[in-house]
Amino acid sequence: MSNSKDETNKRRPAKRTGRLSEEQIEKNFSDMHPPLTPSQAYIEACRCYFCFDAPCTTACPTDIDIPEFIKRIQCGNRKGSARKILEQNIMGGMCARVCPTEELCEEACVRNTHEDKPVAIGLLQRYATDDVIEAKVPLFDRKPSTGKKIAVVGAGPAGLSCAHRLAMLGNEITVFDRSEKSGGLNEYGIAAYKVLGDIAQKEVEYILDIGGIEIKHGVQLGADLTLDQLRNDFDAVFIGVGLPGVNPFEIPGEAVDGVVDAVHYIADLRQAVRKSDLPVGDKVVVIGGGMTAIDIGVQSRKLGASEVTIVYRRDQANMKASEYEQHFAQINDVKLRFCSSPKQILSEDGRVTGIEFDVTEIDADGKSTKTGKTYRLEADVVFKAIGQTFAAEQLGDSARELSLEGGRIAVDEERKTSLDNVWAGGDCVAGGDDLTVCAVQDGKLAARSIHRYLQSS
Ligand SMILES: Cc1cc2nc3c(=O)[nH]c(=O)nc-3n(C[C@H](O)[C@H](O)[C@H](O)COP(=O)(O)OP(=O)(O)OC[C@H]3O[C@@H](n4cnc5c(N)ncnc54)[C@H](O)[C@@H]3O)c2cc1C
Ligand code: SF4
Repeated sequence: MSNSKDETNKRRPAKRTGRLSEEQIEKNFSDMHPPLTPSQAYIEACRCYFCFDAPCTTACPTDIDIPEFIKRIQCGNRKGSARKILEQNIMGGMCARVCPTEELCEEACVRNTHEDKPVAIGLLQRYATDDVIEAKVPLFDRKPSTGKKIAVVGAGPAGLSCAHRLAMLGNEITVFDRSEKSGGLNEYGIAAYKVLGDIAQKEVEYILDIGGIEIKHGVQLGADLTLDQLRNDFDAVFIGVGLPGVNPFEIPGEAVDGVVDAVHYIADLRQAVRKSDLPVGDKVVVIGGGMTAIDIGVQSRKLGASEVTIVYRRDQANMKASEYEQHFAQINDVKLRFCSSPKQILSEDGRVTGIEFDVTEIDADGKSTKTGKTYRLEADVVFKAIGQTFAAEQLGDSARELSLEGGRIAVDEERKTSLDNVWAGGDCVAGGDDLTVCAVQDGKLAARSIHRYLQSS
């Protein structure tokens, strides 16, 4: 790196706002898959074979009866179609936008062959649910009161799904969330180009309209209340706190301006009134290999970064991001580099100027070893997108009694924890896939189990 500050600044424009006009940014962040018109939806619905053993339904983590909801679209019964979806997945509107359908229902669709393409199930699901959620059409009634009170910790997909199902069954729910808004990562994490407008909050409002659910914001389990308190004050507790911790990963020299945690930046981006007000790098390097790395890489390009490179320590086959996501990054002009482990952050005057990598090799057992070769990439922003952790210690002393598995809460098939009246679901439990749809399913299964338990006790 040059020692001349003037020269460096010419080469390396500082992280700044307004790289693109607000109009250009809005265009770049326009709908990834625009909604279907009624005639497009009809034509697409007619492509379905209404398979008897519907492999698409088997592949759906929330067991939506897909041929049935498509049939209802074909018959012009859009509200009935929405009901079929939402009775299994109350967040069917968000899931229609964020589910990796190419790995779930659409991958399983029998029309997914070399000569054909799968039925566009995600787009049809969005078509069915959008109007119902927008107009808050009530599709579900509450059962008579059971007199039971349940505490739900976390107003993300898992917590809200659990709360809705329990409320439907006649219970009274209090949801505690440490954030200002409900929705969890639907509100603060999902890429902005997947969820335009305020669909995440509209869906929350739709869920709350069932009645019997009170949400208390700015209340953190472990700081403002304890698990013991909740277990004493309520008949049952559901924990859906997601992954509030960040994986420890320190790169030598990282304590400088411009080395940023990707999840925090994504949250700022989702909450920004004007995206052009966000500081954006010019040459951006992303460290990581999952969905978050792809999202921050693509969004940086859309915000005006001229060069974005995602660097992953292992080879392409081991990347957590799917082939589809990798392809999506590449068509958005994001470069992918593999087998490179961060060695040190390079900086000048307290600002990042680049990053040095060790080149690695993956052997037949999948073990990564350094080859002794290194290389450097210029960067004015380095994003760390290396995953989140459950961080059990953040939930306070009384939560330490929860049995863990692989660092997350251990649960049985009904999402019951090792503690007597405590259930858990979503990203914070062991064995899940860390997807919105799986969190919704966990919340639903736990709600059914809690209700059964309370009815028999
Ligand atoms: C950047 C990013 C992009 C993603 N993109 C996708 C995608 O495109 N598609 C997809 O299917 N999945 C995606 N995911 C994964 C998906 O968002 C999660 O699987 C899902 O949100 C998990 O839901 P949850 O309810 O378990 O947790 P969360 O959504 O994390 O919600 C947890 C809630 O608990 C609250 N909380 C945390 N700790 C406490 C506490 N101690 N006390 C009180 N409240 C607490 C939080 O404020 C939050 O509201 C993405 C994840 C990330 C990080
Ligand atoms: S597998 Fe495809 S064709 Fe068959 S029911 Fe599902 S969406 Fe329709």
